[in-house]
Amino acid sequence: MTDIIQLLPDAIANQIAAGEVVQRPASALKELLENAVDAGATQVQVVVRDAGKQLIQVIDNGKGMSATDARMSFERHATSKIRNSQDLFAIRTFGFRGEALASIAAVAQVELKSRQSDSELGTLIQIEGSEVKKQEPAALPIGTSVAMKNLFYNVPARRNFLKSNPVEMRHIVEEFQRVVLSYPEIAFSLFQQDLEIYNLPAGKLSQRIVSLFGKSYQGLLIPCDEQTPHVNVKGYVGKPEGAKKSRGEQFFFVNNRFIKSSYLHHAVNLAFEGLIANDQHPFYVLFLEIDPAHIDINVHPTKTEIKFEDERTVYGVIRSAVKQALGAHHVMPTLDFSL
Ligand code: ADP
Ligand code: MG
Repeated sequence: MTDIIQLLPDAIANQIAAGEVVQRPASALKELLENAVDAGATQVQVVVRDAGKQLIQVIDNGKGMSATDARMSFERHATSKIRNSQDLFAIRTFGFRGEALASIAAVAQVELKSRQSDSELGTLIQIEGSEVKKQEPAALPIGTSVAMKNLFYNVPARRNFLKSNPVEMRHIVEEFQRVVLSYPEIAFSLFQQDLEIYNLPAGKLSQRIVSLFGKSYQGLLIPCDEQTPHVNVKGYVGKPEGAKKSRGEQFFFVNNRFIKSSYLHHAVNLAFEGLIANDQHPFYVLFLEIDPAHIDINVHPTKTEIKFEDERTVYGVIRSAVKQALGAHHVMPTLDFSL
């Protein structure tokens, strides 16, 4: 008899896990932004070079990490956000898997700098391919900076698989938009090479929408607000005259987490029936608040798809919330698009 089964070394296990968490530069950005938000930052700066292939850096002024935690944060399943299986059903942070930093450090060169407000010195860690190259105390501002360099430098097949810079940059902006919309009270900026392409001061959601998408949105936003025992819906829908042929400016958030749902998208479209042409899509940024016990966000590692216990109720509430908002603003079917 010969035994042939072995446990994989951490670096390889991390690299395999990374395949799910980090598909492209934008997925790393999402994870780093979420960590900054989870850390209670009020200011977050993003620096991107070469569409994230060369660099994605996220700098926050959040609570920072101790020297030990800074090192621990790169271990797989290392998280400060849940402790037991009960916590899984009451998740209020973005993160909980403890996989992002471990995955990113497995497939890139990472430099982490972090300092907590009660420490005089911070910690600098350089790690590549899951291997710590340097760890030392350093004079640093309060908060955390994570720089991810040369994504997939050690996985050439995946590096070659990355799309052109315009395509990767579009994904980056998309992820950025999703996070900044759900946290208008946090100031965000985004630099591409040395150019500041977004500068979003802290403010209200309506201001965030306008600074993100442009002044033309100023007069187009209709507030939406409906509370039911099961789910609350809040946010803005665009006036019908602002509807566009291209999809893309439709955002659902569940407990502040961006989700994709063609089912719920349909509920909004139905509320706009007769108001916009069939080939047009309304603008919306809608936030659903729902008891975490009634949803499952653990469906997919990137967490953009979730399961609702009672999808039909949610559908109904969204549709009625949007209809009411449009009605309250006297948006009536005036054009007959069937002609
Ligand atoms: P998760 O977010 O699922 O916990 P991550 O791998 O993204 O897993 O992060 C691991 C841990 O590192 C977090 O739980 C948190 O304690 C710490 N951490 C990561 N990023 C930051 C940050 N920007 N500021 C403070 N702590 C951080
Ligand atoms: Mg995280």
